[in-house]
This record gives sequence, structure tokens and C-alpha cells, in this order.
Amino acid sequence: MINPTPIIIRASSLSGLFDCPARWAAVHLEGRRMPSNGKATLGRAVHASTAVFDQSTIDGAGITIEEAASAAVDAIHKPDEDVLWEDDSPHDAEKIAVSLHKKYCTVIAPTQKYTAVEVKCERLDITDLSIALTGTTDRVRETDDGFSICDLKTGKAAVGSDGSVKTQGHAYQMGVYELLAEQASGVPITGAAQIIGMNTAKTDAGQRVGTGEILDARSVLVGDSESTGVLEMAAKLVHSGDFYGNPKSMLCHKSYCPVFQICKFRK
Ligand code: SF4
Repeated sequence: MINPTPIIIRASSLSGLFDCPARWAAVHLEGRRMPSNGKATLGRAVHASTAVFDQSTIDGAGITIEEAASAAVDAIHKPDEDVLWEDDSPHDAEKIAVSLHKKYCTVIAPTQKYTAVEVKCERLDITDLSIALTGTTDRVRETDDGFSICDLKTGKAAVGSDGSVKTQGHAYQMGVYELLAEQASGVPITGAAQIIGMNTAKTDAGQRVGTGEILDARSVLVGDSESTGVLEMAAKLVHSGDFYGNPKSMLCHKSYCPVFQICKFRK
């Protein structure tokens, strides 16, 4: 029996919910926060500058690649939250962010026909599951198969040495972004979801960019006669109150988990 009071789930937090429910509850229900880190700040920087460039292309505002790059520099040197840089440095992050920004603008952006940038959906209620989804979809683009969403992902292994982008494991998050984009933009999302990967390596050769696609990402969200859909699984978990811990999570670390010092599941 699902509690009637809806619980809000951010699209970007869904994989974290399944990875370690105890950490998810600490952050999203109890409001415990960690300072940001160098990797997340670098990712936000590239998101910020590429968004400026793509929005300018849609608007015909004529902002150059170099001008848009200043949004990445600002995001690194004037972050709007505390950042623990540890082994990373703002100097290195700036160099990588600006380089990736330029590659994105020259290699990826010219191949796209974007119709919207950073499409924010305040709330999408799934009333029968008593959850509400929220989040921002990076891009909506027009393709031969209709409108589709794009998600920018930065990381050390976002793009393989063969240029391929790993899409495995991203379907349900992309599916949620499709629902949110449809709600916020009012256009039907029918094309394959696209992941735009950008490698945050220090060398130019290692800073690969590429794309990968997921067809019918939403199919994993809803169940069928043989299996439960991901949204129902998430709803049952958040309404159960059984937020068990996963000490084998990759993010089970003092830098990433706000209850690391007090968590009973690490014993
Ligand atoms: S310390 Fe580890 S197991 Fe405990 S909540 Fe954090 S990530 Fe999960």
C-alpha cells in the first residue's frame, strides 16, 4: 500500500536511489548536504558554457565559442556552492572545461538541430504511484524521427577509445527525462534519447567527445505482466521507509556521503 503523500524524486537522483537508498534518503529527505567536488564542478562548467552557446544558436544571438567559454570559467572560479577540490585543481578544471567546450561546439553542436536548452520541469505527478518527478533535461532536438532528448555526460570514461559512448544503465534516467521534457516543452518525444559523452582527461587526445543513443528508453519505466516497472520500484522503495545502505557503492566515501561517519551499514 503506497502512502498518499507524494514524494519528490529528482531525475538525476534516481540512479543514486537504487545505488544506496540510505544515502539518497539522507540527501533528499533529510536535506543533508556535502560540499561539491572538483569533478562535479567541472561537469557543471561544461554544461553552463555549452548551454550558453546552444541557446545563442537557437536565438541567433551570435555568441562565439570563445565568449560562451567564459561561462565555464565563471562556474569554476565563482561556484555557487562550496567546492572541496582535494586532488583536483580549479586551474586544471578550467583547462579541461574550456577544451571540452570547444570540442563540443565544433564537433557535436553543428550536427544538432536543438529546439530547447535546459528544459526545466518543476513537477510531473505520477498520481497512482504517489511520486512526483522533477528535473532539467539538457536539450530537446529535432530529428527525422521527431523530437528527442539529449543528455550531456562528463567523466573519465564517458567515451571509449573507439569513440563509443557507454549507454548501458542509463535507460531509466533517460526515460524520466523524456517524460519531463514532454511535460515541460509540450512536444511529443518520439526519437531515440541521445547521450553526449565528454571525457575529462587532461590531454587533448584523451578529451574525446561522442554520442550514443537509447531507443525506447521509457519502456523500462513501466511494468508489464512479467516485471515491475522502474517507477513502481522507486515508489515502493521511497514509501517503504526501508532505506537500507550499500557500503559497496562506489560513492560510499567521506567525500560523497553526508552520513558516512555515522552510517551503521558500514560496520
Ligand atoms: S556510508 Fe555508505 S552505505 Fe552508508 S549511506 Fe553512505 S553510501 Fe550508503
